[in-house]
Amino acid sequence: MPLVPSICPYCGVGCGLLLDVEGGKVVRVIPNKNHVLSKGKVCGKGASAHKSLYLPSRLTRPLKRVGGSFVEVSWDEVLNEIADKIKEIREKYGGRAIAIYGGCQNTLEEVYLMSKLVRFLGSNNVDSCARVCHEPSATALRETVGVGASGTSVEEMVNAKVIVIAGEQLTESHPVLVDYLLKAKERGAKVVVIDPVFTKTARYATLFLQVNQGTDVYLYNAVANYLIQNGLYDKEFVMKRTKGFEDYVRVISRYTIEKAEKITGVPKGKIIEFAELISQKGVIFSWGLGLSEGGGVDAVRAYLNLMLLTGNVGFSGAGPIVYRGQSNVQGSGDLLKPWQLPNGPLTPENAERLSRIWGFPVPLERGLTVTDALLNDNSVRAMILVNFNVAHSMPNRAKVIRRLRELDLLVVLDAYMTETAELAHYVLPVAMWAESEGSVTSLDRLVKWRFKAVDPPGEARQTLFVLADLGERLGLRTGRDPREVFEEMKEVVPLYSKLGLADVMDHSKNSRYPNGELVLYSEKFLTKDGFAHFVPVEYREIDRRGNGLVLITGRVVTHYNTDSLSRYMGDIEEAIYLNPEDMRELGIREGQEVLVRSQCGEARVKARKMEGLKRGFAFMPNFLDSVNYVVCDVLDPETRIPLYKSTEVTVTPLSN
Ligand code: SF4
Repeated sequence: MPLVPSICPYCGVGCGLLLDVEGGKVVRVIPNKNHVLSKGKVCGKGASAHKSLYLPSRLTRPLKRVGGSFVEVSWDEVLNEIADKIKEIREKYGGRAIAIYGGCQNTLEEVYLMSKLVRFLGSNNVDSCARVCHEPSATALRETVGVGASGTSVEEMVNAKVIVIAGEQLTESHPVLVDYLLKAKERGAKVVVIDPVFTKTARYATLFLQVNQGTDVYLYNAVANYLIQNGLYDKEFVMKRTKGFEDYVRVISRYTIEKAEKITGVPKGKIIEFAELISQKGVIFSWGLGLSEGGGVDAVRAYLNLMLLTGNVGFSGAGPIVYRGQSNVQGSGDLLKPWQLPNGPLTPENAERLSRIWGFPVPLERGLTVTDALLNDNSVRAMILVNFNVAHSMPNRAKVIRRLRELDLLVVLDAYMTETAELAHYVLPVAMWAESEGSVTSLDRLVKWRFKAVDPPGEARQTLFVLADLGERLGLRTGRDPREVFEEMKEVVPLYSKLGLADVMDHSKNSRYPNGELVLYSEKFLTKDGFAHFVPVEYREIDRRGNGLVLITGRVVTHYNTDSLSRYMGDIEEAIYLNPEDMRELGIREGQEVLVRSQCGEARVKARKMEGLKRGFAFMPNFLDSVNYVVCDVLDPETRIPLYKSTEVTVTPLSN
């Protein structure tokens, strides 16, 4: 059988894979040399991705909860029952009581259908796991430059003079991009890493700023003030291509380098060196979850303001790159939003236009984010979760589990029996990435098609078919062919409207939205008025109640998110990582069992030394079973992302 082109199911780089199939099984993954971006490179996760298909925890038949356990049922029976229950709940409480939330493995066609189905049922309660990672990035980018996505491509890293990497562990989260970084360095690029932890990525840095967690806004505002005071900003760019400069100056003029040193913990000389490095032309401003989950939307705004101030956007070797963590998290964030319609802002005009295309009235009331529906608001009674393991990945896990148990109807579509599936009334087994087909959007707007290589196990079905079948039982007639749904999606979603399916399917071709450009904004910004907008923000100190350590969570290279897709990589110890001096002061030995306690929960784990960690901080990998029992549900006030990297904890030794 010829090799089947696919896209890696893990991070948002979206490396091209070729799947070798023997006897109905994917037996090998070969890096695709013709893939336009990855050009024959994959990391360890991508190279072993086929193993994720054959884990013993795969679901093969629909399940229905009866009492305390599950029984196997037929697809017809399960879909009829779910449809009847949804109708009953809608009758009793209205469409607002129904929600559909998706993980970011789902294809564009699947998220498009979720988006349509929930509106058909009468609510805008639709969201994705993009909410809990880069919603602040998408929001800040939209208001600043017009599109909530990377404004340049990772391919442009090699053309940059300076690459700033804020809050991102490339080596762990997006390993293939390290190659781009090394090539850029060979060509003379300087690399600035900003992180509270001396990460492996920091080893590549020309300049490393070890910033105190949550103080980014102060740092970036003080740097802006220094640039303006010293005439190091791009006056012409600011004058001709931006708006809001005067208001910005009014805010940042109170921020000083001296105070920045005290607040951020970064020596003054290094802050000035950073300012001077970014004052030249050819700077890529890139960032990861450390910025968005650490400081929320204001941290990203403050960072992007520096990009505008230095005029570093709209040409080769400059611009914003947001390191997204899942294969279709960009696409999911583009299409699944409770405060926006897939064709634009939630306005009567857009709702009217969409109603005409879809043939049913589109609701205008703002929907609930997945974080609010699980953590703050009990109005949703029926929830459909599509490949989204919220019982593991959300903060304050105990509270989320209680909330899921209270629902009148919880339907889970997943390939595995996850912690969330265990709580469901109905579990529907779905096909995985190599067992179905459809498109995904990379972290730099490259839209590519995954082809089906093998059949799913047992009775598992492609998510798109399950959604279409359920929709049909509820009265929504919709296409089931991913190619047809792709064409319909293009008609609705303006950013995707110019993509050609043939280019999307050809992995050697550039098929980036909106118009195929690697670099956006060369002539105008995609905001309403065509200008870039400064969005001034003030620094707010994180409210700390005690003298505990600040817990930071993050990825490690061998495991992936809640680990359902990477469990084959082997077990990893439940542990908290501490600065060696903090360990000494707390009387904790290497490997000793400790109690980690926060305002919302506790966990017993092993204590391990981490040399690169600042004093006062602790680190836990984000896929550990214990971690989200401890991480608290403090949400960014605007974008409702949990601030996963700012929980205050105490750590106490338990045994001798
Ligand atoms: S870098 Fe990301 S997309 Fe590429 S192979 Fe590794 S995990 Fe997959």
